[in-house]
Amino acid sequence: MNLTSLELRNFRNYQQVQLEFDPGVNLIVGDNAQGKTNLLEAISYLGCGKSFRAQKVSEMVRFGEEFAELKGTVFSQEREQTLRILLFSGSRPRQMFRNGSKKKSLEEISGVLPTVLFCPEDLLVLKTGAAQRRRFGDIALCQLRPNYDAALTEYNRILEQKSRILKDHFENPAILEILPEYNTRLCQVGALLISYRARFYEGLGKAAAKYHSQFSGGSETFTLEYKTVSTVQDPFAPVKTLTQELLDHLDRHYRAELETGQCLTGPHKDDFTVSLSGIDLKIYGSQGQTRTAAISLKLAQRELMGREWGEEPVLLLDDVLSELDPGRQDFVLNQIVSGQVFITCCEPGRFTKLGKTIEISKGKIV
Ligand code: ATP
Ligand code: MG
Repeated sequence: MNLTSLELRNFRNYQQVQLEFDPGVNLIVGDNAQGKTNLLEAISYLGCGKSFRAQKVSEMVRFGEEFAELKGTVFSQEREQTLRILLFSGSRPRQMFRNGSKKKSLEEISGVLPTVLFCPEDLLVLKTGAAQRRRFGDIALCQLRPNYDAALTEYNRILEQKSRILKDHFENPAILEILPEYNTRLCQVGALLISYRARFYEGLGKAAAKYHSQFSGGSETFTLEYKTVSTVQDPFAPVKTLTQELLDHLDRHYRAELETGQCLTGPHKDDFTVSLSGIDLKIYGSQGQTRTAAISLKLAQRELMGREWGEEPVLLLDDVLSELDPGRQDFVLNQIVSGQVFITCCEPGRFTKLGKTIEISKGKIV
């Protein structure tokens, strides 16, 4: 699928633009603060009805204007389709249209133009804490598997209730009677999460390793390893086995959980590690290696989504080129051959052999 054209009116710093895109790579070049990220935001918003940077819808309406309009023509599901969204600066709710007819829910517009965004903050995912990596994995997996999404919501609900029991038992010891019931349920749903995650990370790791190898010219071997509760011997084991292993682990931490009043163990602490030729990236990775590995993960996520849906999501790469050496820049610009890609960069003189270059200055096309 690809976005063939986009029209913006009063969106962020764009008063009025009309853009035609290449089905391959679209390189968006311009100095700082000219509207490059705003353009990616518009594309992403049109595709999913959510902004990756605005807190409030009104932020996206050009200063001093009453409404913004985003209009895109998309070649998707083997036909031409249109998406149109109107945003208002006041309290008036937004309006969404698909192929000319007004839609109420996000589900009715999403699916036409799915996008995968890579922003500078994503570079940190392999360097920072486990919580960010879990979030990355969970968001991707929820998009891929609605049943996982439901299980995760259920897990978090039980976890919250269990937390309350662990906090309250100091004052109300009788409440501990219901704890085993919660633990059992938590382990059953937790086992399901592990089962999904094991398969997801296996697929993600394999695809990412392929990209990383192309990226680094074959000089580094990318390995992703999923980490879960230590009593789990094989995360691919039947859910029943996993449930028992999780229960065993909880048993061992029973005292500690009571004493600290906290849920200490479970898949809510899961993580994954990435190593390059056997060296842990989190500890030893260079800036460029960390960037390359993170981009490879994103490309892999997109590939899994494409396999699932039959069409690859549009890839939005914001500001990824700096700190990459010429070989790795060449990979981003000239070797991501599948699907449509938008790449923003500040450095003039960059170009792509796989599509077109669009230069932006003060919210206008040069
Ligand atoms: P950089 O290279 O620094 O990332 P960029 O080209 O990605 O720059 P954008 O983030 O797209 O820049 O923002 C460009 C400008 O848009 C900013 O200077 C910002 O002040 C302006 N802007 C943001 N929201 C609005 C709005 N609602 N109305 C008018 N201008 C806005
Ligand atoms: Mg930017």
